[in-house]
Amino acid sequence: MKFITIDKKDWTKGIDKSRETYQLFGPVKDKNGCLIKKLDTDVQPDMEYQESVMSAKSVLFPQTEKILNANLNESVEDHHIMKRSLTDYSPRAVLGIRPYDAKAIALVKLNFDTNEFKDPYWCDAYDATVFVGLGITKPGPFDFSTSVGTGPFCEEGLDILLADLDDKYLAKVLTQKGDAYAIACGFDVKADEKESQVLFDILRKEAEKNIVSFVETDKLKEKTVLELHEAPFWDDVAFSCINCGTCTYVCPTCWCFDIQDETKQKQATRFRNWDTCMSPLFTRHATGHNPRGNKIQRVRQRFMHKLKYFLDKYDQGIMCVGCGRCVKSCPVNIDIREVCLTMNTFEKQE
Ligand code: SF4
Ligand code: SF4
Repeated sequence: MKFITIDKKDWTKGIDKSRETYQLFGPVKDKNGCLIKKLDTDVQPDMEYQESVMSAKSVLFPQTEKILNANLNESVEDHHIMKRSLTDYSPRAVLGIRPYDAKAIALVKLNFDTNEFKDPYWCDAYDATVFVGLGITKPGPFDFSTSVGTGPFCEEGLDILLADLDDKYLAKVLTQKGDAYAIACGFDVKADEKESQVLFDILRKEAEKNIVSFVETDKLKEKTVLELHEAPFWDDVAFSCINCGTCTYVCPTCWCFDIQDETKQKQATRFRNWDTCMSPLFTRHATGHNPRGNKIQRVRQRFMHKLKYFLDKYDQGIMCVGCGRCVKSCPVNIDIREVCLTMNTFEKQE
């Protein structure tokens, strides 16, 4: 681990230099707000942004991704054989990712990269990517990250963490991948380790003081799945939900997807697309049977997965990093903080 000082006057020149070997992704404002996108060569990341509408999850898990293809022309020897689609896994850097979104990628990794199963598309993209985080100095009103094991200067999942010091960035280089990226940018002005760490600690404490939103999760573990599943409050939680799926699409830790095959002339392509547990189609079987056919079952699934099943399965906290996007985006104001409180304090009546 080391610290580097980057004068802001050198920032653009440095990241432009890194484009020789890295594809760059970062925050860009458009009419829909700030999004994390691939940066064309003439586009710079907007490092002044406060919040992005979507997280960086699409860098590793695109909204629509070609995964397999086959040639249907029977005169070709390997016709109808599904093969992996060609994807560019050359090195890429995500600039300005928020620490809670990097932590979300570490949580998603528990699902896509296990000893038993590896999702080759996600893992190859992950291996190719370096995450350059930007500490949050002004947390938004929906940010409850400190109460779910992350925070404005959390380092988990990051390769470099930047602190914005007005005219310069102080960079904490956390991994070899981060070091390689700093070298590719030509950022090499070392800062004193002890002083830099003290400064990071001060900035972290200041930022954490400005967080005004919290949840309690301490009793979730001791509840049984069955008592929460059968609890009477799900009717009320689900009442106003319109199953639009917004909460899951904006969530950096949601990973549901669907597979779709399409043919065009003699070419067949298999896509995977983001899907949502909030949609009835997600679980409808070919027979027409649907194990989560009603809204209450789907809303319960979302919260039980995030706040109970994930916690029990991985013992790494809940499947939520407290970014607050779902709270802010839900058109009917369903609030995971309130649902978490309801679940955490629920006592079964004998
Ligand atoms: S955003 Fe709100 S209304 Fe839409 S599916 Fe999620 S909880 Fe339901
Ligand atoms: S559940 Fe909501 S607050 Fe938690 S990580 Fe997902 S979008 Fe953010």
